[in-house]
Amino acid sequence: MNDAPNSIFSSILSGDIPSHRIYEDDFVYAFLDINPLTRGHTLVIPKENAPTMDTLSEDSAASLGRVLPKICRAIMQVTGAINYNLIQNNGEAAGQTVNHLHIHIIPRYSDSEHSFVWANQPIDHLDAKNIAESISAAIK
Ligand code: AMP
Repeated sequence: MNDAPNSIFSSILSGDIPSHRIYEDDFVYAFLDINPLTRGHTLVIPKENAPTMDTLSEDSAASLGRVLPKICRAIMQVTGAINYNLIQNNGEAAGQTVNHLHIHIIPRYSDSEHSFVWANQPIDHLDAKNIAESISAAIK
């Protein structure tokens, strides 16, 4: 269990701050983003107070993973969106503004113009071999 400081999402979970609830079970809560990028923009959060993915327990991770597909299906069905993005920022430098892990589900409509563009480069296979082996060995 984490002892991270509470965030505004703790207040949403406790009911002290209102939210437009979409889904809830013992481990997960989903609600509409208050500043939606598109209609139906949803946040899915663990009830566990974990700030980032690397701090989340396996039980909460499993619970999140279990419910994501059905929440995505319901959003697609109701909004009529043609596609959607899942975005999950970890840490301030990565764009995270609320320090409670959350997964954005962002519906994309035929007239949506938002983009998540990054300047990627072809992989360096020598470095890739090293880093892949090192990360693989570091997974506990
Ligand atoms: P991030 O930048 O990935 O940390 O995303 C945080 C998201 O939380 C933003 O999209 C905010 O609009 C959203 N947010 C902040 N406060 C609230 C709130 N009270 N209710 C719903 N969404 C919120």
